Amino acid sequence: MFRCAHCSKVTDLQWRNCAHCGKVIDYTVAEKFDMLAESVEAALKKELQNRKKNKIMQLFSKRG
Ligand SMILES: [Zn+2]
Repeated sequence: MFRCAHCSKVTDLQWRNCAHCGKVIDYTVAEKFDMLAESVEAALKKELQNRKKNKIMQLFSKRG
């Protein structure tokens, strides 16, 4: 998610234009890096949760 500099509403990262005011969003290199880092972090956290869940499921299936 990204906060539009024109209307200061939060809009989706995938869109080149703001969904609210339609202005073209110019990301700086630092902003792009932050967004990339956040999306990678979110993906890694999700993967970690899945792995933990699978591990717990395996423990239960072994005992049962
Ligand atoms: Zn906007």
